Amino acid sequence: DELEPPRRIRALHQDVVNKIAAGEIIVAPVHALKELIENAVDSGSTSLEIVVKDGGLKLLQITDNGSGISKDDLPILCERFTTSKLKAFEDLQAIGTYGFRGEALASISHIAHLAVTTKTADSSCAWKAHYAGGKLTPPKAGQSADPKACAGRQGTQITVEDLFYNVPTRRRAFRSSSEEYAKIADLVGKYAVHCQGVAFSCKKHGESGAGIAVPATASIRDRIRLTHNNAVANDLIDFQLTNEQYGIKVDALVSNANHSAKRTTFLLFINHRSVDSSAIKKAIEQTYAAFLPKGGKPFVYLSLEIDPARVDVNVHPTKREVNFLNEEEIIELVCDDIRQRLGKVDTSRTFMTQS
Ligand code: ADP
Ligand code: MG
Repeated sequence: DELEPPRRIRALHQDVVNKIAAGEIIVAPVHALKELIENAVDSGSTSLEIVVKDGGLKLLQITDNGSGISKDDLPILCERFTTSKLKAFEDLQAIGTYGFRGEALASISHIAHLAVTTKTADSSCAWKAHYAGGKLTPPKAGQSADPKACAGRQGTQITVEDLFYNVPTRRRAFRSSSEEYAKIADLVGKYAVHCQGVAFSCKKHGESGAGIAVPATASIRDRIRLTHNNAVANDLIDFQLTNEQYGIKVDALVSNANHSAKRTTFLLFINHRSVDSSAIKKAIEQTYAAFLPKGGKPFVYLSLEIDPARVDVNVHPTKREVNFLNEEEIIELVCDDIRQRLGKVDTSRTFMTQS
């Protein structure tokens, strides 16, 4: 048999590239919402209102009271790699904002119907714009794509409808909207606990009561009370920790030995970004195993601030994972502290029951 000649290599059309990238960054509605929450917080908001329909597949809407977006920036808002947060690669060393890649809104605009209403302090009115494929698009056929003046409050409202409408295989993969809503509520709960000074509400479209409601003034303990429950909020030990050698500052609220749940609740923030770390989770569970009844699991809120120069947030566009220096030593430091505190609480209880 004769081999066929090789197929020729061609550059993919830019639209195809963008759609592929979008599908990698936004796997489920919760990933789009995470980007939108982080944008709202980056813009200095003190109030975030979230409305969700069909687990976010039909509608994700987030309204903030932050800086707003200049009308002149609206034409490039959803283009890929347009950002107000990063200029040079070196800036990544000291990145203080959640975003920096300018990919989130672009991605969303490639796989959903996206509308933005925004008002800055120096504008007398709000502006509303619709986006598709990274560009301004007319809201209806035959209309103008230019942003339209309208009434509105200071801040930004982002409306994402029909997520994955043009990615049918992805769309079909979602079986239950309540499962997607649970992921959303979980994420909003995490940011609602962490973002002090910011009010959060999250509800399903058409329902009057909010699933999550946290006022701006609530302390972290009260935020945990409101997003989780009273019992756990009353069983928390809080502590701070700094270590200059590793360039870290730790803020934590962790359950004491009275609290024993079936599953670990782990709220981890690294430089104010909600991330996952199975290494840290495992080490903490092991630490608790010595203090809790067999199979008992803790509640842990951990906020690590690490010198940005020692953190690599650029592992993946989703930034759900970060790498940092001296990870093992830092985990040990935190676990040692927890162990000591759990030990203390334990002895005082023994002492009290004996007396
Ligand atoms: P990034 O956050 O990485 O910069 P995004 O695509 O998420 O990229 O957002 C692009 C830009 O749009 C941001 O840099 C910011 O200037 C602006 N922006 C997005 N959302 C908001 C918002 N809620 N309030 C104010 N500005 C916003
Ligand atoms: Mg962003």
